[in-house]
Amino acid sequence: MKPRWNILYRGPLSSCNYACGYCPFAKTRNSIAELRDDTRRLGSFVDWIEAQAPREIGVLFTPWGEALIHRAYQQALLRLGGMPHVRRAAIQTNLACGWKWLDAADRERVALWCTYHPTETTVERFAAKIHILHRMGIRHSVGAVGVKEHFPQIERLRGLLPESTYLWINAFKKHPRYYQPEQLEFLTAIDPHFPVNLRQHPSRGKSCRAGQSSFTVDGDGTARRCHFIDAPLGNIHDDGFESRLVERSCPNAICGCHIGYVHLDELKQDEIYGDGLLERIPAGWPERGA
Ligand code: SF4
Ligand code: SF4
Repeated sequence: MKPRWNILYRGPLSSCNYACGYCPFAKTRNSIAELRDDTRRLGSFVDWIEAQAPREIGVLFTPWGEALIHRAYQQALLRLGGMPHVRRAAIQTNLACGWKWLDAADRERVALWCTYHPTETTVERFAAKIHILHRMGIRHSVGAVGVKEHFPQIERLRGLLPESTYLWINAFKKHPRYYQPEQLEFLTAIDPHFPVNLRQHPSRGKSCRAGQSSFTVDGDGTARRCHFIDAPLGNIHDDGFESRLVERSCPNAICGCHIGYVHLDELKQDEIYGDGLLERIPAGWPERGA
């Protein structure tokens, strides 16, 4: 059997309905023509995924901005979730979208990586949406950036979420030694996997599955090892594309982002996340992860 591929897709869409101070895409708007172009490219990607059957595939959409407020991405997730060879169809989202469309989602395959942005919505409103997902049986993880000023909201969020919902914390890494020991303790008590995210993992020369069983695809169909290495591997629509996916070591000094370092062999993150690797849900959560 052919090995499974985990594919991260990021098309040209860059607009967002939110205005987070830490983000370059805050309140940007794509024109109607740009959105149509993005939808066309998205459709071409999904068609290509369909044509890869019976190879097992996992997809994670990692848009620049917010994609799930657009029907095209909702439909893409539903369509992918209906393909027997697609084991997972997940997306990173601020969860500002409605949820009725999720009625039609395959509960085993469709998953949401939901990020809480404390300046853009109240913790109560956000948590209420997560409870809806929970009741609907939609796979999901929830997370936030561990900015010190937001600790009270993060703590409140943990208290309001369903117990079984995993809350990940992304370390704020702009300033070295940003956290005091008690702050590290606070965040680790909420997310036991926070210490792994806190580190910038030395990766040069180390074996990484990015470029072999995992790769990224952009709106042109250009594939790259990961979002942190610009050199293209080729185009997914090229004959013989599969031959470009080979074992390689990492050329970068460090890898500090979850969607990258989970593929570094020495970290064995696949053993922690198992089937939930793409949408960031530790295997067996909460029993094993708590
Ligand atoms: S929701 Fe995400 S994409 Fe939108 S402004 Fe905030 S960080 Fe940026
Ligand atoms: S270690 Fe990180 S930067 Fe290096 S190839 Fe893997 S995902 Fe990319």
